[in-house]
Amino acid sequence: MGAGISEITIIGGGVVGLSVALGLVRAGHRVTVLDGSDSDLRASQGNFGLVWLQGKGADFAPYCELTRKAVAAWPGFARDLADLAGIDLALDQSGGFEFFTDPAELANFAAALDRQQAHLGNRFSHEVIGGDDLRRSYPMIGPDVVGATFCALDGHVNPLRLLRALRCAVVALGGRVLADAQVTGIVPGPDGGFDLALRGGGTRGAERIVLCAGLGSPALAAQLGFITRVRPQRGELLITEKLAHRLPFLSSTIRQVDEGGVQIGGTKADAGPDDSETLEVMAGLARHAVQVLPALADVRVVRAWGALRVMSPDGYPVYARSSRHPGASLVTCHSGVTLAPLHASILAEWIDGASNAPELEAFDENRFALSDAA
Ligand SMILES: Cc1cc2nc3c(=O)[nH]c(=O)nc-3n(C[C@H](O)[C@H](O)[C@H](O)COP(=O)(O)OP(=O)(O)OC[C@H]3O[C@@H](n4cnc5c(N)ncnc54)[C@H](O)[C@@H]3O)c2cc1C
Repeated sequence: MGAGISEITIIGGGVVGLSVALGLVRAGHRVTVLDGSDSDLRASQGNFGLVWLQGKGADFAPYCELTRKAVAAWPGFARDLADLAGIDLALDQSGGFEFFTDPAELANFAAALDRQQAHLGNRFSHEVIGGDDLRRSYPMIGPDVVGATFCALDGHVNPLRLLRALRCAVVALGGRVLADAQVTGIVPGPDGGFDLALRGGGTRGAERIVLCAGLGSPALAAQLGFITRVRPQRGELLITEKLAHRLPFLSSTIRQVDEGGVQIGGTKADAGPDDSETLEVMAGLARHAVQVLPALADVRVVRAWGALRVMSPDGYPVYARSSRHPGASLVTCHSGVTLAPLHASILAEWIDGASNAPELEAFDENRFALSDAA
């Protein structure tokens, strides 16, 4: 059991804050989610929707394990959300490819998958497939593709429906989700608890808080003594007109969304807080897609956008409880779609201090203090 039923305020109503809120409201807490405004940078509204294990944590075993557990928990989680919110997330976990046009990049990635295999043993499997073998199974794949890797555990969901389903589920279970409730300052009280200042001049008290504000978290994290400072990493995406037929495969850069359009993505750029799309990157995405699947050359792109990933200094999740201000926790990660089932279960138990909660020490922010000192 945790520390008893309490009033918990979650700052940030993206996929991370809402997943944690769902877990805490299910544990019986009175949960309020304070979410910012539509003008905020919101990774949860611009992502690629992958539920992806391949390549994750090859050099950090705890992350590898965490992602493996999350991917395994997805089918049950999607069913739960469908029951609670009446929303089908269009989860498809029938395996995913990484396609390569450069043999050296394929070899590097295959080596990373071997390291991942060493961490996970028989809880992971992957294949490396040469270009010609690939084309024997999928004749539509272009001649520039030198090979691919495949993991049968990978999949994808509709990420906007995930966000909506989480919000509906939290509310259905009695949680409150307040929009346009941007927290501008946090003052820890002398005897525990917190005073939150809101944009527009209001204030509200909070017994316990979980900071999940994505790229809005650094200033507030500093006020609570957390040392983690996340940074933005821009990804750009294209989406095509809807196709009449289904693509026979999913890849980390090309996926057909359940409504029929083909989404193309996977770029990474350090561009500061700028989430605009750029012609050069969009052209590169289109070129990549046509190399992999030449038939896409005849398909129209109907929309493009940029969105900012929320990246910790080493790219892995941060799950931290404040020792200075008991009752304050910080949760931030990339791959918040993939990790959502665990954020709504074991992470919520860990924040709650439940006796059956798993050890998440590897994800504490003290790893940054150690590396700063080194
Ligand atoms: C291009 C791209 C592709 C991606 N692809 C994938 C993928 O395929 N699979 C996957 O698992 N992950 C993917 N991700 C990552 C995933 O989208 C993020 O990990 C996840 O959305 C992060 O959610 P979040 O809730 O932490 O942040 P956000 O979605 O940014 O939400 C933060 C929320 O906090 C609110 N907020 C900010 N400041 C305040 C404040 N002061 N007070 C109150 N509220 C505040 C904001 O309004 C916002 O609603 C991708 C991300 C990007 C950008």
